[in-house]
Amino acid sequence: MKLDTICVQGGWQPKNGEPRMPPIVQSTTFKYASSDEMAKLFALEKAGYFYTRLQNPTNDIVAAKITQLEGGYAGMLTSSGQSANFFAVFNIAGAGDHVVASSALYGGTSNLFTVTMAKMGISFTLLPPHSSEEEIAAAIRPNTKCLFGEVLSNPSLDVLDIEAWAHCAHAHGLPLIVDNTFPTPINCRPIAFGADIVTHSTTKYMDGHAVQVGGAIVDSGNFDWMAHKEKFPGLCEPDESYHGVVYTERFGKGAYILKCVAQMMRDLGSCAAPMNAFFLNMGLESLHLRVARHCSNAQRIAEFLESLPEVSWVNYPGLASSPQHALAQKYLPKGSSGVISFGLKGGRARAVRFMDALRLVAIATHVADARTCILHPASHTHQQLTDEQLAAAGVPPDMIRLSIGIEDCDDLIDDLKQALNA
Ligand code: PLP
Repeated sequence: MKLDTICVQGGWQPKNGEPRMPPIVQSTTFKYASSDEMAKLFALEKAGYFYTRLQNPTNDIVAAKITQLEGGYAGMLTSSGQSANFFAVFNIAGAGDHVVASSALYGGTSNLFTVTMAKMGISFTLLPPHSSEEEIAAAIRPNTKCLFGEVLSNPSLDVLDIEAWAHCAHAHGLPLIVDNTFPTPINCRPIAFGADIVTHSTTKYMDGHAVQVGGAIVDSGNFDWMAHKEKFPGLCEPDESYHGVVYTERFGKGAYILKCVAQMMRDLGSCAAPMNAFFLNMGLESLHLRVARHCSNAQRIAEFLESLPEVSWVNYPGLASSPQHALAQKYLPKGSSGVISFGLKGGRARAVRFMDALRLVAIATHVADARTCILHPASHTHQQLTDEQLAAAGVPPDMIRLSIGIEDCDDLIDDLKQALNA
């Protein structure tokens, strides 16, 4: 199936007489006839459902669709993008370990890494996203467990040079984990460029209607854990909390996701609600159509903003003036996303007056849904960061983040014009 068909029909191909739509299995638990059968499920000797925190049929259908979209081997849903990124890294890094990440990160991810996971004993080196391979290599230590970056960063819109980061990771026996929330697999499939594990906040374009918070992790199955087994004992040595199972031996290419379900989900929870997975699937069915419209609207509005004397700068990878343009053409040839950032002459005070005057465009802590919305990151999503951290994350204090929806573009431009005049 091609991408557009996977969006519509991936993950669930009903057999004769089965429901056309994936059923919502709204049940925490599953019944078995024999105690022995249940014991085998607990021992990971047999596949099957027994408790929704670990696996649920609705969640698995939607995870399978996202895995197909990303061209991965195995995938899972989580209750949020935050838990997806946390699990993706914590599945292979623990106290005493180290991670090299791009500094162009969503504020929540930056906090998760440098505050919460740091308290757990994992250290992070954040590097500018456009660091050379030599600079990335210089940051790698003997205890480094992975490299991490956002394919298109929120909100700075830096495009990650996936091939360079992957090449550097693999040269050091490490996997590259990328957060592909903004481009979605419609605009970029990072595994084809060498990424090993892909994460998502499905809350964004994948859902697209702002009805559920969710996350996903997809493993390409390409990283050879056993070739670097001294670095990844959790995957390559017996797990005593699961009767000594060695994930790589028992599950081969599925080892990383199986461990993530069996250990991370078992111990930390953060499972997706089946109802949310159902809503997410409704969004995925039109992902290909919506993403194309988000991108064409955003391209026009970025060009419009760039033409205005009141606007001091516009950042959109689709603009020829963008320093990201060459990387965007390589990794995001169909379009980057609906997100644009820009600054108004008159700085923060004018930005606030402009935002308050908007009528169609809503002030909302969100990006990537059908309705256009706007935010001032330095006052909202990134307010916990210091000025130095803001600069490292590529978030100037005057930055306005505009998430263009799928409305009629003329209406959006009219609203921006009237608010600027106001
Ligand atoms: N990753 C990126 C790139 C994001 O933009 C976000 C949220 O905005 C997250 C992760 C966290 O996702 P969630 O809000 O679903 O926990």
